[in-house]
Amino acid sequence: MKFRFIAKEKLSALPSAPGVYALSSSQEILYIGKALNLKERIRSHFQQPSYRDHLFIKHITKVGCIETFSEIDALLLESQLIKKYQPKYNVMWKDGKNYFYLALTKEPLPRVLILHQVSKGSFSKFLGPFVDGKSLKQTLKLLRRVFPYYTAKKHPEGLCSWCHIALCPGPNPNKKKYRKDLRSLFEVLQGKRISVIKNIKKAMEIASKDQRFEEAAVLRNQFLALENVASHFHEQTLPKNSEKELQKILRSKNPINRIEAYDISNIQGAHATGSMVTFINGRPAKDWYRKFKVHISGKPNDFAMIQEVISRRMAHKEWPYPDLMLIDGGKGQLSSALQTLNLIKLSYSQRFRVAALAKKHDELFLPKSSVSLLLKDMPPEARNVLLHIRDEAHRFAIAYHRKLRRVDLLKPL
Ligand SMILES: [Zn+2]
Repeated sequence: MKFRFIAKEKLSALPSAPGVYALSSSQEILYIGKALNLKERIRSHFQQPSYRDHLFIKHITKVGCIETFSEIDALLLESQLIKKYQPKYNVMWKDGKNYFYLALTKEPLPRVLILHQVSKGSFSKFLGPFVDGKSLKQTLKLLRRVFPYYTAKKHPEGLCSWCHIALCPGPNPNKKKYRKDLRSLFEVLQGKRISVIKNIKKAMEIASKDQRFEEAAVLRNQFLALENVASHFHEQTLPKNSEKELQKILRSKNPINRIEAYDISNIQGAHATGSMVTFINGRPAKDWYRKFKVHISGKPNDFAMIQEVISRRMAHKEWPYPDLMLIDGGKGQLSSALQTLNLIKLSYSQRFRVAALAKKHDELFLPKSSVSLLLKDMPPEARNVLLHIRDEAHRFAIAYHRKLRRVDLLKPL
């Protein structure tokens, strides 16, 4: 896992994805952090520096980042990288009560504890430092469903309150299984989720082959639950807010669950392409990505291309309608899309919101409104989803364009 560094002047090239970032002087990494949206977070260090940022921001010459699949992965990776690099301005803060450690007690049935400080020797295992205690606790809450554990010293003979919500292994767990689950829990928290999943799957297959069906069923549930952890985390924290925030911003009757974003690559020559990406509940739904090779002949014309792509999309009655159709561009692009949709004459219940997102100042244009909305004034949940889907549409469009060109090069002249 290595940081990809770019000069601090080129922040706009950063991805709007979750991940871990490093702020570095010409000599060394001075600070490591994690973000749900790398581009936004890194920019804010420079544009709205905090008290701590002021201590080092003038020394920063380059920034590096590593994209991760989810915020959980970013949380875990951040902790590992802080430990590895010991950046000066992370370590400085470590003396305070700002950091969290996860520790496993030395007991026959070990407990899992979150602490601010750990003295070596008193625990059989510990992980950290974690900077974001709230995310750590949320992650543990999810993982505790997969691997129930004790936090209290003595378990009552009967069921405890954690037992009732299936977060506790109960009064008489199988000791061997319990300890194995704790090992798996710590491995997941060290970023080894995939190998843990594989091992559980293997154990599940062996158990069912040996006709130990009850055990196989437990392992199967564990397997499925763990596979979902990362996506779960997203679904629980981000989109709920983003859907509501977008609903407010767009004055929509319904929450904005399904978004389609269009990018028209207006590239000179034969390969004008339109692409559509779809986000459902704030996450990319790749089954619903589509590419349109634009047929219009002659000079590339943004507006005509949008009209062609939108009308071809709308001809697919079998594709569910989005709650929001997001067009890449400004007022002109928005009215081209609206004209096309007006021609189709959707019934009231079929109607959805349409907006255009202009790159230049990150502004959102809405129908019947002469003023645009600036993304920077929006709540972060809404802003992040819009930036994420815009970047994803762009990435998808460019990937397609490259593929077309490659195919072209293979053709005999
Ligand atoms: Zn219990």
